[in-house]
Amino acid sequence: MASLSDYLDLSETEAAAQWQSIVQRRMPPPGKRQVNFTPVETVLCYGLFLSDDPVVDPHRFGGQTINSAPRLVHDLAALFRRRPSSITSKMMNLNGSRVNGAKYEVEFFMNMGADVVRFLDLYGTALRAARRMGIGVRRLPDFLRLEQATEYSILGLEDLADSRFDEMIEQEAAQLRAAKLRYNQELSSAETTRIVQHRARVGHKAFATEVLRRFDHTCGFCGMAPRSFQGNRLIVASHIKPWADSSNRERRDPRNGVAACPTHDAAFDKGLITVNGGLRVHRSRRLRASIEAETGVEHNFGESLREALMVPSGVEPPRSAYLHWHHEHIYQDSLR
Ligand SMILES: [Zn+2]
Repeated sequence: MASLSDYLDLSETEAAAQWQSIVQRRMPPPGKRQVNFTPVETVLCYGLFLSDDPVVDPHRFGGQTINSAPRLVHDLAALFRRRPSSITSKMMNLNGSRVNGAKYEVEFFMNMGADVVRFLDLYGTALRAARRMGIGVRRLPDFLRLEQATEYSILGLEDLADSRFDEMIEQEAAQLRAAKLRYNQELSSAETTRIVQHRARVGHKAFATEVLRRFDHTCGFCGMAPRSFQGNRLIVASHIKPWADSSNRERRDPRNGVAACPTHDAAFDKGLITVNGGLRVHRSRRLRASIEAETGVEHNFGESLREALMVPSGVEPPRSAYLHWHHEHIYQDSLR
């Protein structure tokens, strides 16, 4: 019999073992009882309550109307080797609207409702374990877009949204087109743009992943490390010497990156703070004045800001050439 802790303490290894048993299942013959839901299945069924695209209302779909349920319900049922109506029934066990639900199911529902962060962590565990077992997005879509959120956050979209980005993409695409023509391959401008954009995104993703890893997913300025919330843009990786001003090599160099919470990332990006070659953090005159005058600013940039950029031991710190570039061109005051 499952208990609440089987759900709340679900590890990736346990989840992988559950997936293993799920993929080996057969559909129950009509009229036969189905096997009990494993925690990974239950976690995903709970996740359906949080899905906004599609919205899954279990009260609307069951019995005769199950065929009109969103495709996602059918996808999960196929993966779990269950009848689609068992998915919506499970949801109603969870929210307590079916009297034959188990006590722990409603407890789980209440617990998750009170702590979405924890739920997303469980959802992430269930998904990672599934991917490890070779279950891809076609069989198990990431319907809460958590995996995409991770990608989104490390893309550093502020960086990419820079208008100079589009310009540079166009330039590189034109170069690629010309190079291809020399080999008698004619690509349309849309094709080359897509290739160059993709290359830039992949490169950026690799850069950001490495920077976040080096900083141990921790803000280098204040030490915030929201581990249960990874991939939700609470820690972002960005360039010290901005993407647009960097060469291709510099854009990919992880020693041209810092990981920071959004507040400190923005302050660094706007030159309100900088880091010298000895990794000491400096506050601009304007920021210091604002700290004196405004308590909210004091809260974020007073004592919570470390004296020196925190780089985990054994990790190469950012190159001083990039830091120098930052305080010469981005920082609002001069260090000299
Ligand atoms: Zn911070």
